[in-house]
Amino acid sequence: MMGLLAKIFDILYPETNICLNCGRKYLFSELRSICDYCLGYVEFLEFYCIHCGRAMDEVEELCSFCHEHVSAFDLARSVGVYDGLLKNLILKFKYEGCQELSRPLVELLAIAFEEHYFHAKVDRIVSVPIHATRLQERGFNQAELLAGGLALKTGIPLSTAVKRIKEQAPLYNYAYQERKELLKNSFSVEDGIFAGENILLVDDIFTTGATTSEISRLLKDKAGAKEVRVLTVATVAAPERTMKLGMVINKKI
Ligand SMILES: [Zn+2]
Ligand SMILES: [Zn+2]
Repeated sequence: MMGLLAKIFDILYPETNICLNCGRKYLFSELRSICDYCLGYVEFLEFYCIHCGRAMDEVEELCSFCHEHVSAFDLARSVGVYDGLLKNLILKFKYEGCQELSRPLVELLAIAFEEHYFHAKVDRIVSVPIHATRLQERGFNQAELLAGGLALKTGIPLSTAVKRIKEQAPLYNYAYQERKELLKNSFSVEDGIFAGENILLVDDIFTTGATTSEISRLLKDKAGAKEVRVLTVATVAAPERTMKLGMVINKKI
């Protein structure tokens, strides 16, 4: 009996309805290519820093990072926290070359765009570039696929004019100020190319914000952009939230 039902299911619901995360077939889902069960593992942002968009607890205000540092972008927002399903999808997308995942990720970005920037006048979408060497290794620039998808969905033109000209070892172990120093002269863009424009800068993850801030600085100082807003699929927790979570974990032990 199960065999027959499975066959009928196959006829009625062909391969398009296979969840790209868990591999299960599903009938309906709120998001293309991801089943509702997996979607339950997205940690959407309930509270976040009013400037950088990092996850906060209970109140929406400026996070302690933004109290201490000045970022060149005007605003940054994300779909959710870099954990659970979003982390899974980004890792699969970026490092396992699962490019079909750009579809559900773009849909999520479009929802966040609508939620946070619906009132904003955005003239152009710009993707965070990767260096030619990394592009050759990976075969694609994940941020460009996401930005391109969002451009198609919103009708806002895409630009890939920002180039990464210098590549260095991963920056995980560096503090914010060091990262900023290392990132200097890593990107290039034509003088005045975005004169007076409002830019939406798209990337997969917002971590320290050093990269997005450096590109935003360049977009304003060199390319002549007026405002730069950032949109990413995932973000991290604000420093005070990380500390609090750490304390809770310590208590358990
Ligand atoms: Zn699933
Ligand atoms: Zn902040």
